[in-house]
Amino acid sequence: MKPFVPDMVFFEPDSLNYPLGETLVEHYRKLNIPVRQTTSHNQVRGIPGDTALQQYRNAKRTLVVGLKKSLKFEPSLPSAEYALPLATGCMAHCHYCYLQTTLGKKPYIRVYVNVDDILKRAEQYIQEREPEITRFDASCTSDIVGVEHITGSLKRAIEFMGKQTNGRLRFVTKFEHVDSLLDAEHNGHTRFRFSINTDYVIKYLEPGTSRMDGRMAAANKVAAAGYPLGFIVAPIIRYDGWMNDYETLFQKLKERLRYKPENDLTFELIQHRYTMTAKKIIQERYPNTQLRMEESERQKKYGRYGRVKYVYPKMQAQEIKDHITGLVHDYFPDARVEYFT
Ligand code: SF4
Repeated sequence: MKPFVPDMVFFEPDSLNYPLGETLVEHYRKLNIPVRQTTSHNQVRGIPGDTALQQYRNAKRTLVVGLKKSLKFEPSLPSAEYALPLATGCMAHCHYCYLQTTLGKKPYIRVYVNVDDILKRAEQYIQEREPEITRFDASCTSDIVGVEHITGSLKRAIEFMGKQTNGRLRFVTKFEHVDSLLDAEHNGHTRFRFSINTDYVIKYLEPGTSRMDGRMAAANKVAAAGYPLGFIVAPIIRYDGWMNDYETLFQKLKERLRYKPENDLTFELIQHRYTMTAKKIIQERYPNTQLRMEESERQKKYGRYGRVKYVYPKMQAQEIKDHITGLVHDYFPDARVEYFT
């Protein structure tokens, strides 16, 4: 698949005072892509569309270039201590994506040009926790690999973290566009993770992302480049034939993946969950979705701020955990399962 090219690009005026902002405005003007100004990346007006749905789809094709003003990083447990905010939003259309709710009416793709400020702040967070290691996840608010061809910011973050004794970076992607990151001086401090799923889930629930073949080929390149490598099996969904399909996924991965001990292979396992707010938004935006969300088939789980999420009932969740953990042990006995949630 080809890397994302936006239909329209908005710039905050201040972003043009940064080299990345300048480069991007010139780049999109040359491509004859409409370029507009916006006073703030938090409030972009003028995205076309007669209905809310059309506006949503167009917003996912709109790039906004701005400054990250709040440098208070959000927590990101269990995978990291902090989120590293290099971008917000994503061009793909995964039906279950949590950005549906967290971004509300701002689903456009924001990239930030004050990367130096963001990395300097990360350094302060690292120093505050020394001698403990501090982990940052760069994919909490976007698929950061999906916008890397636009900004190059992820490579800068990887190389920055490569120099930090007590700093580590991680991110997850569903995109295959990893080539520009292969020669980064990561120093083993960045864990490169790919989100993997069955062909059924990818086909019906992850439009606009790289297919499994592309992700596996990219994982091989990343492994050859010596990065610590991980896979996130998420969301794990129960449907007719799910057990066999997940086994096929692991078989295929085993056949194709070439890795070495230095890649320190890990797996993270996340069962599907949804909130009632998410369900309403998903049904509006993807009315024919195959994603099953029936409260009568689920169990409540209380998250942060008392938010109610619907997960699989205990016995079914245990079955998922046992099955997928078993597949990891059978096919990748030298790998670690970091958590199941
Ligand atoms: S690729 Fe990730 S961030 Fe993008 S829509 Fe899919 S789940 Fe959301």
